[in-house]
Amino acid sequence: MSRPSAVAGAAQALQRCDELARLTSLSGGVERVHLSPEHAAANALTGGWMAEAGLAVRQDAAGNLVGRLEGARPGLPALVLGSHLDTVTDAGRFDGMLGVLLAIEVADRVDASALPFALEVVGFTDEEGTRFGNALFGSRAFAGRVDDGWLAIPDRHGVTVARAMTDFGLDPARVGEAARRPEDLVGYLEAHIEQGPHLLDAGRALGVVTGIAGARRFALQVTGRAGHAGGTPYARRRDALVVAAEVVVAIERIAVETGTIGTVGRIRAFPGGVNVVPGVCRFSLDLRAETDEARDAAFERIDGFARELCARRGVEWSWDEFYRADTTPCDPALVAAIEQGVQATGDAEPVRIWSRAGHDGMAVADVTGVAMLFLRCGNDGISHHPDEIVTAEDVAAALEAFEAAVLAVAARH
Ligand SMILES: [Zn+2]
Repeated sequence: MSRPSAVAGAAQALQRCDELARLTSLSGGVERVHLSPEHAAANALTGGWMAEAGLAVRQDAAGNLVGRLEGARPGLPALVLGSHLDTVTDAGRFDGMLGVLLAIEVADRVDASALPFALEVVGFTDEEGTRFGNALFGSRAFAGRVDDGWLAIPDRHGVTVARAMTDFGLDPARVGEAARRPEDLVGYLEAHIEQGPHLLDAGRALGVVTGIAGARRFALQVTGRAGHAGGTPYARRRDALVVAAEVVVAIERIAVETGTIGTVGRIRAFPGGVNVVPGVCRFSLDLRAETDEARDAAFERIDGFARELCARRGVEWSWDEFYRADTTPCDPALVAAIEQGVQATGDAEPVRIWSRAGHDGMAVADVTGVAMLFLRCGNDGISHHPDEIVTAEDVAAALEAFEAAVLAVAARH
């Protein structure tokens, strides 16, 4: 069989993105969540494409789709290529799926018998956490990090993960069997759309990911005193919402000054009457940065600003951290392989970029080294949205780079 060109492989991957987009629970949009009929259909369809490319296909105990191509001899540790097949609500067609489909194209193109490792392609389930609210189920299970507490989480209809697994045909008691041993793995490479405008602005098709930012999330609160909107003079007001508003503006300023990203996505004033001075204001903060040190330093500044402001305004400041994921640095040797891959497309000095979004690699890093290749997004870098777009030229370049990266890992192995 002649070796298909990268252009043809990219066209096939893009056409398959369209086919997967038809497996949706949302009329007029894309939504494919964990342990749904659409999840089963996506695994079946993608599994068929894996088999066509010569991979031995199975679904693991967590609902991940796994295809395997033996290397120079059977039973070698595997270099894993993958991404996720689930989506957010009203999603685009490329976030996750394109990475799985490019991995299948790479598996189709390489001469596996010449590789010093096996090649596996994994379509992870539930990277997004759309149904149960807790993300990375598939990749956490791959790393052996799913516990009973996770299995007991209900969806909005009260169906637990365990029950949904049973309905799907999986045995929740055996989820641990999805776990992989570090000695059976060479590393993990993922191609993914950038989900932002940095490559677009830089005029580059591809980027080499240096790390995946971890986020800290806080519930922030200002406590003042409620009072009559007409009867309480300004000098006597302890308006929690006005103070919170100043904190929100300061969060943006401090984030810009420190090169971090702080987002207040939710805010609520209590008691919430139109004629009542707000006595309490609760709001959220999602904070991320290239390094944990930069992120933590930014929070120190935000906290210091809010403490000083609240003392001056006669209100109380408090916060609770309800989520923390530390940054996942990419494996230097695998990053070098991705860089060589991008160089093979003619880009002599590939752009290095840190991932502002979470990815399966954060979970996989618990069992093996990870690295990622980013592809430029069009449309102002929009993602998690139906207007998500990539060009066929960029996808062809990504396929070339991804394949060359696999060969670079082989050369270094
Ligand atoms: Zn994704």
